Amino acid sequence: MAQRAKAFSDNQPGAFFVDESCIDCGTCYTMAIDVFEGAEGHSRIHHQPLENQRLRASMALLACPTSSIGTEDKSSMAEAARAFPDPIEDGVHFCGFTSENSFGAWSYFLQREAGNVMMDSPRAAQPLLKRIEELGGVKTMVLSHQDDVADHATFHERFGCERIMHADDHYAGMDRYIEGADPVALAPDLLFIPTPGHTAGSACLLYRETFLFTGDHLWWNPQRGMLSASKRVNWHSWSKQLKSLEKLLDFNFRWVLPGHGTSKRTETAQEMRRELERGLEYLKKL
Ligand code: SF4
Repeated sequence: MAQRAKAFSDNQPGAFFVDESCIDCGTCYTMAIDVFEGAEGHSRIHHQPLENQRLRASMALLACPTSSIGTEDKSSMAEAARAFPDPIEDGVHFCGFTSENSFGAWSYFLQREAGNVMMDSPRAAQPLLKRIEELGGVKTMVLSHQDDVADHATFHERFGCERIMHADDHYAGMDRYIEGADPVALAPDLLFIPTPGHTAGSACLLYRETFLFTGDHLWWNPQRGMLSASKRVNWHSWSKQLKSLEKLLDFNFRWVLPGHGTSKRTETAQEMRRELERGLEYLKKL
């Protein structure tokens, strides 16, 4: 729980504040840029929310992995708790309620006729569990890699979802392990794509040839204005990660939805392919 006594002095005065427990995961200023911003290793309130920004700021408070955001204004909290999973497009949602165990990684909920899917695990917060139950539960949980598993066991116990991960991360407790380098169709609209590099068993999930869930493999970097990846935050092999990024040029998608960093949407798959080529050109020079 955020403590007013430990609030950063660079918060704009008012009801909302960020305290010293912030780990600078970026979730709040990705979600509510009008209110939060990154400032030298932590987040701060740069503008107290206006009436029409309060719900989003309250949602960011709930999504924070370390409960580092506090407010004396609770007027939108109940509505914020019911607002997750937060719709993105065509049944794809952001789960909110990120976990400190995953350094605030984002997870996603895919509502589908053939059974709902979760990409990576959020924190098993009661309001989220309740809403997901109302939306039909979770049939399949795909884990991008061993670091973003958070409360997968609780989701499995509650909804009986099959948990799928690539075998090369050697992470115990999954229900199914994918082996090898070839993509595997989990369903006609769901393709598991092994993308080793960030970790040995890192993988992306392609949904309906539109949405690519990338874990820690690829994201949009708004400062550089291009798709990006991190050589510094690479736990296995940078050269393999570059090869895995090139491999994505073979697939059609117009959304990149990462665990960390900003998502990217383009109008067409061709446009996204050009963005990937542009990002790769930069990353290969690092
Ligand atoms: S969501 Fe929480 S931990 Fe992440 S940057 Fe914001 S205040 Fe910090």
